Amino acid sequence: MTVIIAGAGIGGLTAALMLHERGIRAQVVEQAAEVREVGVGINTLPHSIAELARLGLLERLDEVGLRTRELRYLTRTGQEVWRELRGIHGGHDFPQFSIHRGRLQKLLLDAVIERMGPDAVQTGLRLSGFVQDEAGVSAHFTDSREGTSSRLFRGDVLVCADGIHSVGRRSFYPDEGPPSWDGVVMWRGAVEWPVWEDGQTMVIAGGLSGKLVLYPIAPAKDGRQLMNWVVNIRVADASVSPPPPDSWSRKAPLSKVLPYAKRFHVPGIDIAALVRESGSIFEYPMADRDPLPRWTHGRVTLLGDAAHPMYPVGSNGAAQAILDARSLADLLAQTEHPREALYRYELDRLPKTAEVVRINRIGGPERVIDEVEKRSPAGFDDVNDVLSSDERKAIVKGYAKMAGFNARKHVTAA
Ligand SMILES: Cc1cc2nc3c(=O)[nH]c(=O)nc-3n(C[C@H](O)[C@H](O)[C@H](O)COP(=O)(O)OP(=O)(O)OC[C@H]3O[C@@H](n4cnc5c(N)ncnc54)[C@H](O)[C@@H]3O)c2cc1C
Repeated sequence: MTVIIAGAGIGGLTAALMLHERGIRAQVVEQAAEVREVGVGINTLPHSIAELARLGLLERLDEVGLRTRELRYLTRTGQEVWRELRGIHGGHDFPQFSIHRGRLQKLLLDAVIERMGPDAVQTGLRLSGFVQDEAGVSAHFTDSREGTSSRLFRGDVLVCADGIHSVGRRSFYPDEGPPSWDGVVMWRGAVEWPVWEDGQTMVIAGGLSGKLVLYPIAPAKDGRQLMNWVVNIRVADASVSPPPPDSWSRKAPLSKVLPYAKRFHVPGIDIAALVRESGSIFEYPMADRDPLPRWTHGRVTLLGDAAHPMYPVGSNGAAQAILDARSLADLLAQTEHPREALYRYELDRLPKTAEVVRINRIGGPERVIDEVEKRSPAGFDDVNDVLSSDERKAIVKGYAKMAGFNARKHVTAA
Protein backbone atom coordinates (compact mmCIF):
# COMPACT_ATOMS: atom_id res chain seq x y z
CA MET A 1 0.00 0.00 0.00
CA THR A 2 1.19 3.54 -0.72
CA VAL A 3 -0.09 6.55 1.20
CA ILE A 4 0.45 10.02 -0.24
CA ILE A 5 0.68 12.69 2.44
CA ALA A 6 0.27 16.32 1.41
CA GLY A 7 2.08 18.52 3.96
CA ALA A 8 5.28 17.99 5.93
CA GLY A 9 4.07 19.67 9.13
CA ILE A 10 4.01 17.97 12.53
CA GLY A 11 0.98 15.89 11.54
CA GLY A 12 2.15 14.79 8.08
CA LEU A 13 5.66 13.82 9.16
CA THR A 14 4.44 11.93 12.22
CA ALA A 15 1.94 10.04 10.07
CA ALA A 16 4.74 9.08 7.67
CA LEU A 17 6.89 7.70 10.52
CA MET A 18 4.00 5.74 11.97
CA LEU A 19 2.98 4.27 8.61
CA HIS A 20 6.59 3.26 7.92
CA GLU A 21 6.72 1.58 11.33
CA ARG A 22 3.61 -0.40 10.33
CA GLY A 23 5.20 -1.49 7.04
CA ILE A 24 3.20 0.89 4.85
CA ARG A 25 4.95 3.05 2.24
CA ALA A 26 4.40 6.78 2.70
CA GLN A 27 5.27 9.57 0.29
CA VAL A 28 5.27 13.07 1.80
CA VAL A 29 4.87 16.06 -0.54
CA GLU A 30 5.37 19.57 0.84
CA GLN A 31 4.68 22.94 -0.73
CA ALA A 32 7.63 24.79 0.88
CA ALA A 33 10.82 24.69 -1.17
CA GLU A 34 12.64 23.57 1.96
CA VAL A 35 11.51 22.78 5.49
CA ARG A 36 12.95 25.64 7.53
CA GLU A 37 12.72 26.10 11.29
CA VAL A 38 9.67 28.37 11.17
CA GLY A 39 7.52 29.26 14.15
CA VAL A 40 8.14 29.82 17.81
CA GLY A 41 7.14 27.78 20.83
CA ILE A 42 4.71 24.91 20.93
CA ASN A 43 3.64 22.56 23.70
CA THR A 44 3.12 18.85 23.26
CA LEU A 45 1.13 16.94 25.84
CA PRO A 46 2.03 13.58 27.41
CA HIS A 47 -0.46 11.53 25.38
CA SER A 48 1.18 12.70 22.14
CA ILE A 49 4.72 12.44 23.54
CA ALA A 50 3.88 8.80 24.37
CA GLU A 51 3.37 8.30 20.63
CA LEU A 52 6.64 10.04 19.70
CA ALA A 53 8.43 7.97 22.38
CA ARG A 54 7.05 4.80 20.75
CA LEU A 55 8.73 6.01 17.56
CA GLY A 56 12.03 6.13 19.51
CA LEU A 57 12.26 9.94 19.51
CA LEU A 58 12.36 10.72 23.24
CA GLU A 59 16.13 11.17 23.43
CA ARG A 60 16.10 13.59 20.50
CA LEU A 61 13.25 15.53 22.07
CA ASP A 62 15.36 15.94 25.19
CA GLU A 63 18.19 17.39 23.10
CA VAL A 64 16.12 20.17 21.56
CA GLY A 65 13.08 20.63 23.80
CA LEU A 66 12.31 21.05 27.46
CA ARG A 67 10.31 18.88 29.83
CA THR A 68 7.68 21.15 31.35
CA ARG A 69 7.51 20.66 35.11
CA GLU A 70 4.88 23.08 36.31
CA LEU A 71 2.00 25.12 34.89
CA ARG A 72 0.73 28.24 36.63
CA TYR A 73 -2.41 30.20 35.87
CA LEU A 74 -2.29 33.82 37.03
CA THR A 75 -4.54 36.82 36.66
CA ARG A 76 -3.32 39.60 34.38
CA THR A 77 -1.88 41.33 37.45
CA GLY A 78 0.02 38.25 38.58
CA GLN A 79 -2.24 36.76 41.27
CA GLU A 80 -2.19 32.98 41.33
CA VAL A 81 -5.36 31.14 40.30
CA TRP A 82 -4.05 27.59 39.88
CA ARG A 83 -0.83 25.65 39.72
CA GLU A 84 -0.16 22.02 38.89
CA LEU A 85 2.69 19.71 38.01
CA ARG A 86 2.83 18.52 34.42
CA GLY A 87 4.06 15.50 32.51
CA ILE A 88 5.87 12.85 34.55
CA HIS A 89 5.98 15.24 37.53
CA GLY A 90 2.18 15.37 37.36
CA GLY A 91 1.61 11.62 37.33
CA HIS A 92 1.75 10.89 33.61
CA ASP A 93 3.88 8.11 32.16
CA PHE A 94 5.42 10.53 29.66
CA PRO A 95 6.64 14.12 29.81
CA GLN A 96 5.05 17.25 28.39
CA PHE A 97 7.50 19.07 26.13
CA SER A 98 7.81 22.79 25.47
CA ILE A 99 9.70 23.06 22.22
CA HIS A 100 10.45 25.32 19.29
CA ARG A 101 7.95 24.31 16.59
CA GLY A 102 10.57 24.44 13.85
CA ARG A 103 12.95 22.23 15.81
CA LEU A 104 10.22 19.67 16.41
CA GLN A 105 9.41 19.66 12.70
CA LYS A 106 13.11 19.30 11.82
CA LEU A 107 13.51 16.43 14.28
CA LEU A 108 10.60 14.60 12.63
CA LEU A 109 11.91 15.39 9.13
CA ASP A 110 15.37 14.03 9.99
CA ALA A 111 13.80 10.83 11.32
CA VAL A 112 11.71 10.40 8.15
CA ILE A 113 14.77 10.83 5.91
CA GLU A 114 16.96 8.52 8.01
CA ARG A 115 14.35 5.76 8.12
CA MET A 116 12.66 6.13 4.76
CA GLY A 117 15.31 7.66 2.52
CA PRO A 118 15.82 11.15 1.05
CA ASP A 119 13.04 10.76 -1.55
CA ALA A 120 10.38 10.15 1.12
CA VAL A 121 9.81 13.91 1.33
CA GLN A 122 9.45 15.86 -1.91
CA THR A 123 9.45 19.63 -1.47
CA GLY A 124 8.40 22.62 -3.56
CA LEU A 125 5.22 20.87 -4.69
CA ARG A 126 1.76 22.09 -3.82
CA LEU A 127 -1.29 19.82 -3.80
CA SER A 128 -3.70 21.24 -6.37
CA GLY A 129 -6.27 18.49 -6.83
CA PHE A 130 -6.93 14.76 -6.96
CA VAL A 131 -9.01 12.13 -8.71
CA GLN A 132 -9.95 8.81 -7.18
CA ASP A 133 -11.17 5.59 -8.75
CA GLU A 134 -11.81 1.99 -7.72
CA ALA A 135 -8.09 1.15 -7.69
CA GLY A 136 -6.54 4.21 -6.07
CA VAL A 137 -6.07 7.96 -6.03
CA SER A 138 -4.06 10.28 -8.29
CA ALA A 139 -2.87 13.46 -6.57
CA HIS A 140 -1.78 16.44 -8.65
CA PHE A 141 0.91 18.77 -7.38
CA THR A 142 2.08 22.00 -8.96
CA ASP A 143 5.51 23.52 -8.64
CA SER A 144 5.18 26.07 -5.80
CA ARG A 145 7.46 28.64 -7.45
CA GLU A 146 6.51 28.39 -11.10
CA GLY A 147 2.86 27.46 -10.54
CA THR A 148 3.02 25.11 -13.52
CA SER A 149 1.46 21.69 -13.35
CA SER A 150 4.29 19.32 -12.74
CA ARG A 151 3.86 16.10 -10.77
CA LEU A 152 1.34 13.36 -10.33
CA PHE A 153 1.57 10.86 -7.47
CA ARG A 154 -0.45 7.68 -7.52
CA GLY A 155 -1.33 5.86 -4.29
CA ASP A 156 -3.96 3.87 -2.45
CA VAL A 157 -4.78 6.71 -0.10
CA LEU A 158 -4.30 10.50 0.01
CA VAL A 159 -3.95 12.15 3.43
CA CYS A 160 -4.33 15.94 3.33
CA ALA A 161 -2.18 17.18 6.24
CA ASP A 162 -1.89 20.57 4.62
CA GLY A 163 -2.84 22.86 7.48
CA ILE A 164 -5.56 25.42 8.12
CA HIS A 165 -5.87 26.37 4.41
CA SER A 166 -6.08 22.76 3.29
CA VAL A 167 -6.67 22.20 -0.42
CA GLY A 168 -8.22 18.81 0.36
CA ARG A 169 -10.68 20.35 2.78
CA ARG A 170 -11.60 23.08 0.29
CA SER A 171 -12.25 20.54 -2.43
CA PHE A 172 -14.85 18.81 -0.21
CA TYR A 173 -16.24 22.04 1.28
CA PRO A 174 -15.76 24.71 -1.42
CA ASP A 175 -18.18 27.14 0.24
CA GLU A 176 -16.57 27.08 3.68
CA GLY A 177 -14.72 30.39 3.29
CA PRO A 178 -11.82 31.67 5.39
CA PRO A 179 -11.07 30.58 8.98
CA SER A 180 -13.21 32.20 11.67
CA TRP A 181 -11.65 34.88 13.83
CA ASP A 182 -12.68 36.04 17.30
CA GLY A 183 -11.01 39.46 17.19
CA VAL A 184 -7.92 38.32 19.12
CA VAL A 185 -4.43 38.89 17.72
CA MET A 186 -1.47 36.89 19.00
CA TRP A 187 2.02 38.37 19.01
CA ARG A 188 4.80 35.86 19.54
CA GLY A 189 8.51 35.93 20.13
CA ALA A 190 11.40 34.06 21.72
CA VAL A 191 14.58 35.36 23.30
CA GLU A 192 17.57 34.01 25.24
CA TRP A 193 16.78 35.00 28.83
CA PRO A 194 18.19 34.38 32.32
CA VAL A 195 16.68 31.18 33.73
CA TRP A 196 13.46 32.06 35.54
CA GLU A 197 12.45 30.06 38.64
CA ASP A 198 13.22 26.34 38.03
CA GLY A 199 13.64 26.89 34.27
CA GLN A 200 10.80 24.43 33.58
CA THR A 201 7.71 26.43 34.44
CA MET A 202 4.99 27.61 32.08
CA VAL A 203 2.83 30.61 32.97
CA ILE A 204 -0.49 31.79 31.56
CA ALA A 205 -1.58 35.17 32.89
CA GLY A 206 -4.99 36.63 32.03
CA GLY A 207 -8.22 35.46 30.38
CA LEU A 208 -9.37 35.14 26.77
CA SER A 209 -9.54 38.84 25.92
CA GLY A 210 -6.07 39.64 27.26
CA LYS A 211 -3.56 36.92 27.97
CA LEU A 212 0.19 36.43 28.31
CA VAL A 213 1.72 32.98 27.77
CA LEU A 214 5.31 32.41 28.83
CA TYR A 215 7.47 29.29 28.78
CA PRO A 216 11.07 28.22 28.19
CA ILE A 217 11.56 26.01 25.11
CA ALA A 218 15.16 24.79 25.32
CA PRO A 219 17.54 23.41 27.94
CA ALA A 220 19.40 26.06 29.98
CA LYS A 221 23.01 26.89 29.12
CA ASP A 222 25.25 29.19 31.16
CA GLY A 223 22.27 30.42 33.18
CA ARG A 224 20.21 31.39 30.11
CA GLN A 225 17.58 29.65 28.03
CA LEU A 226 15.30 30.35 25.10
CA MET A 227 12.11 31.87 26.52
CA ASN A 228 8.96 31.86 24.39
CA TRP A 229 6.20 34.41 24.91
CA VAL A 230 2.80 35.12 23.41
CA VAL A 231 0.63 38.19 24.03
CA ASN A 232 -3.02 37.64 23.06
CA ILE A 233 -5.27 40.70 22.92
CA ARG A 234 -8.83 41.17 21.68
CA VAL A 235 -8.27 44.16 19.41
CA ALA A 236 -11.43 44.19 17.31
CA ASP A 237 -15.06 43.24 17.04
CA ALA A 238 -14.70 40.22 14.79
CA SER A 239 -18.24 40.60 13.43
CA VAL A 240 -17.28 43.85 11.68
CA SER A 241 -13.47 43.72 11.27
CA PRO A 242 -11.61 41.35 8.98
CA PRO A 243 -8.69 39.45 10.58
CA PRO A 244 -5.07 40.32 9.82
CA PRO A 245 -3.43 37.94 7.29
CA ASP A 246 -2.76 34.53 8.84
CA SER A 247 0.80 33.91 7.83
CA TRP A 248 2.99 32.35 10.52
CA SER A 249 5.98 34.37 9.34
CA ARG A 250 4.29 37.80 9.31
CA LYS A 251 6.31 40.22 11.45
CA ALA A 252 5.04 43.07 13.65
CA PRO A 253 6.88 46.10 15.02
CA LEU A 254 7.75 46.31 18.72
CA SER A 255 5.72 49.52 19.05
CA LYS A 256 2.54 47.59 18.28
CA VAL A 257 2.88 44.98 21.01
CA LEU A 258 4.84 46.75 23.76
CA PRO A 259 1.90 48.78 25.14
CA TYR A 260 -0.13 45.56 25.42
CA ALA A 261 2.75 43.62 26.97
CA LYS A 262 3.03 46.25 29.69
CA ARG A 263 -0.48 45.34 30.88
CA PHE A 264 0.79 42.06 32.34
CA HIS A 265 2.65 41.35 35.52
CA VAL A 266 4.40 38.09 36.34
CA PRO A 267 6.34 38.10 39.62
CA GLY A 268 10.11 37.97 39.07
CA ILE A 269 10.20 38.69 35.36
CA ASP A 270 10.27 42.00 33.46
CA ILE A 271 7.79 41.34 30.64
CA ALA A 272 8.38 44.62 28.82
CA ALA A 273 12.15 43.99 28.75
CA LEU A 274 11.60 40.43 27.55
CA VAL A 275 9.48 41.64 24.63
CA ARG A 276 11.80 44.55 23.88
CA GLU A 277 14.82 42.26 23.60
CA SER A 278 13.17 39.71 21.31
CA GLY A 279 14.66 40.02 17.84
CA SER A 280 11.59 39.25 15.75
CA ILE A 281 7.96 39.53 16.75
CA PHE A 282 5.34 37.59 14.79
CA GLU A 283 1.66 38.46 14.45
CA TYR A 284 -1.08 35.90 13.88
CA PRO A 285 -4.87 36.05 14.32
CA MET A 286 -6.48 33.60 16.72
CA ALA A 287 -8.32 31.56 14.11
CA ASP A 288 -10.05 28.21 13.83
CA ARG A 289 -12.78 26.53 11.80
CA ASP A 290 -16.08 24.89 12.67
CA PRO A 291 -15.92 21.11 13.10
CA LEU A 292 -16.80 19.27 9.88
CA PRO A 293 -19.47 16.60 9.40
CA ARG A 294 -16.97 14.36 7.51
CA TRP A 295 -13.22 14.17 6.90
CA THR A 296 -13.11 11.04 4.78
CA HIS A 297 -14.35 10.83 1.20
CA GLY A 298 -13.47 7.43 -0.22
CA ARG A 299 -9.67 7.18 -0.38
CA VAL A 300 -9.00 10.74 0.72
CA THR A 301 -9.01 12.09 4.27
CA LEU A 302 -7.87 15.06 6.36
CA LEU A 303 -5.44 15.13 9.29
CA GLY A 304 -4.26 17.69 11.87
CA ASP A 305 -5.05 21.37 11.26
CA ALA A 306 -6.56 20.50 7.88
CA ALA A 307 -9.22 18.51 9.72
CA HIS A 308 -9.64 20.47 12.95
CA PRO A 309 -7.80 23.80 13.26
CA MET A 310 -8.29 24.99 16.83
CA TYR A 311 -7.42 27.95 19.02
CA PRO A 312 -3.99 27.45 20.57
CA VAL A 313 -5.24 27.09 24.12
CA GLY A 314 -4.70 24.05 26.29
CA SER A 315 -1.59 23.01 24.28
CA ASN A 316 -3.55 20.75 21.95
CA GLY A 317 -2.91 21.68 18.28
CA ALA A 318 0.17 19.57 17.61
CA ALA A 319 -0.85 16.91 20.13
CA GLN A 320 -4.16 16.20 18.39
CA ALA A 321 -2.41 16.00 14.99
CA ILE A 322 -0.05 13.35 16.43
CA LEU A 323 -2.99 11.39 17.87
CA ASP A 324 -4.71 11.53 14.46
CA ALA A 325 -1.58 10.05 12.90
CA ARG A 326 -1.52 7.18 15.39
CA SER A 327 -5.16 6.29 14.77
CA LEU A 328 -4.79 6.50 10.99
CA ALA A 329 -1.61 4.39 10.80
CA ASP A 330 -3.00 1.69 13.10
CA LEU A 331 -6.29 1.45 11.22
CA LEU A 332 -4.61 1.33 7.81
CA ALA A 333 -2.40 -1.49 9.09
CA GLN A 334 -5.29 -3.44 10.64
CA THR A 335 -8.12 -2.94 8.17
CA GLU A 336 -8.51 -4.88 4.96
CA HIS A 337 -9.69 -2.07 2.70
CA PRO A 338 -8.17 1.43 2.86
CA ARG A 339 -11.59 3.06 2.42
CA GLU A 340 -12.89 1.26 5.49
CA ALA A 341 -9.75 2.26 7.44
CA LEU A 342 -10.26 5.92 6.57
CA TYR A 343 -13.90 5.71 7.54
CA ARG A 344 -13.03 4.16 10.91
CA TYR A 345 -10.29 6.75 11.44
CA GLU A 346 -12.86 9.52 11.04
CA LEU A 347 -15.25 7.74 13.42
CA ASP A 348 -12.48 7.56 16.01
CA ARG A 349 -10.99 11.04 15.72
CA LEU A 350 -13.62 13.46 14.43
CA PRO A 351 -15.88 13.57 17.52
CA LYS A 352 -12.94 13.84 19.95
CA THR A 353 -11.26 16.70 18.13
CA ALA A 354 -14.56 18.52 17.47
CA GLU A 355 -15.06 18.66 21.22
CA VAL A 356 -11.59 20.17 21.73
CA VAL A 357 -12.31 22.81 19.05
CA ARG A 358 -15.55 23.76 20.81
CA ILE A 359 -14.11 23.90 24.33
CA ASN A 360 -11.07 25.88 23.16
CA ARG A 361 -13.44 28.56 21.86
CA ILE A 362 -14.60 29.24 25.40
CA GLY A 363 -11.07 29.26 26.76
CA GLY A 364 -10.25 25.58 27.37
CA PRO A 365 -8.71 25.02 30.82
CA GLU A 366 -7.68 28.69 30.89
CA ARG A 367 -11.35 29.57 31.32
CA VAL A 368 -10.60 29.25 35.03
CA ILE A 369 -8.63 32.54 34.80
CA ASP A 370 -11.52 34.24 32.98
CA GLU A 371 -13.91 33.10 35.67
CA VAL A 372 -11.74 34.47 38.48
CA GLU A 373 -11.06 37.78 36.70
CA LYS A 374 -14.77 38.21 35.94
CA ARG A 375 -15.84 37.59 39.53
CA SER A 376 -13.07 39.64 41.07
CA PRO A 377 -11.89 42.35 38.65
CA ALA A 378 -10.07 44.28 41.37
CA GLY A 379 -8.13 41.23 42.59
CA PHE A 380 -8.51 39.15 45.75
CA ASP A 381 -6.91 38.28 49.07
CA ASP A 382 -7.70 34.59 48.80
CA VAL A 383 -8.62 32.96 45.49
CA ASN A 384 -10.79 30.42 47.36
CA ASP A 385 -13.18 33.25 48.23
CA VAL A 386 -13.63 33.91 44.50
CA LEU A 387 -13.83 30.36 43.12
CA SER A 388 -13.47 27.29 45.31
CA SER A 389 -10.72 24.80 44.79
CA ASP A 390 -13.27 22.22 43.61
CA GLU A 391 -14.71 24.63 41.05
CA ARG A 392 -11.26 25.50 39.70
CA LYS A 393 -10.31 21.84 39.59
CA ALA A 394 -13.50 20.95 37.73
CA ILE A 395 -12.62 23.39 34.92
CA VAL A 396 -8.94 22.45 34.58
CA LYS A 397 -9.25 18.69 35.07
CA GLY A 398 -12.49 18.52 33.10
CA TYR A 399 -10.57 19.82 30.08
CA ALA A 400 -7.72 17.34 30.56
CA LYS A 401 -10.23 14.49 30.66
CA MET A 402 -12.07 15.69 27.58
CA ALA A 403 -8.82 16.13 25.60
CA GLY A 404 -7.62 12.67 26.69
CA PHE A 405 -4.66 13.56 28.90
CA ASN A 406 -5.90 13.33 32.46
CA ALA A 407 -3.13 11.89 34.64
CA ARG A 408 -3.69 8.55 36.26
CA LYS A 409 -2.36 9.87 39.57
CA HIS A 410 -3.34 13.33 40.72
CA VAL A 411 -0.36 15.37 41.90
CA THR A 412 -0.59 18.92 43.17
CA ALA A 413 2.31 21.35 42.90
CA ALA A 414 4.10 22.19 46.12
C1 LIG B 1 5.11 27.72 9.20
C2 LIG B 1 4.27 27.38 10.39
C3 LIG B 1 4.61 27.91 11.64
C4 LIG B 1 3.83 27.62 12.76
N1 LIG B 1 4.20 28.15 13.96
C5 LIG B 1 3.50 27.84 15.06
C6 LIG B 1 3.89 28.33 16.34
O1 LIG B 1 4.85 29.06 16.46
N2 LIG B 1 3.16 27.97 17.42
C7 LIG B 1 2.05 27.16 17.30
O2 LIG B 1 1.39 26.86 18.30
N3 LIG B 1 1.66 26.67 16.11
C8 LIG B 1 2.35 26.97 15.00
N4 LIG B 1 1.96 26.47 13.78
C9 LIG B 1 0.77 25.59 13.72
C10 LIG B 1 1.06 24.21 14.27
O3 LIG B 1 2.23 23.70 13.69
C11 LIG B 1 -0.12 23.31 14.00
O4 LIG B 1 -1.26 23.87 14.62
C12 LIG B 1 -0.01 21.89 14.55
O5 LIG B 1 1.31 21.51 14.72
C13 LIG B 1 -0.72 20.89 13.63
O6 LIG B 1 0.14 20.60 12.56
P1 LIG B 1 -0.28 20.20 11.09
O7 LIG B 1 0.82 19.34 10.59
O8 LIG B 1 -1.65 19.69 11.04
O9 LIG B 1 -0.32 21.59 10.30
P2 LIG B 1 0.84 22.60 9.93
O10 LIG B 1 1.85 22.66 11.00
O11 LIG B 1 0.17 23.85 9.54
O12 LIG B 1 1.54 21.94 8.65
C14 LIG B 1 0.94 21.91 7.37
C15 LIG B 1 2.03 21.70 6.33
O13 LIG B 1 1.42 21.55 5.06
C16 LIG B 1 2.09 22.36 4.12
N5 LIG B 1 1.10 22.67 3.07
C17 LIG B 1 0.11 23.57 3.09
N6 LIG B 1 -0.61 23.53 1.97
C18 LIG B 1 -0.05 22.56 1.18
C19 LIG B 1 -0.36 22.04 -0.09
N7 LIG B 1 -1.41 22.49 -0.81
N8 LIG B 1 0.42 21.05 -0.61
C20 LIG B 1 1.47 20.57 0.12
N9 LIG B 1 1.81 21.03 1.33
C21 LIG B 1 1.05 22.01 1.87
C22 LIG B 1 2.56 23.56 4.93
O14 LIG B 1 3.63 24.24 4.30
C23 LIG B 1 2.99 22.89 6.23
O15 LIG B 1 4.30 22.41 6.17
C24 LIG B 1 2.69 26.77 12.63
C25 LIG B 1 2.35 26.25 11.38
C26 LIG B 1 3.13 26.52 10.26
C27 LIG B 1 2.76 25.95 8.91
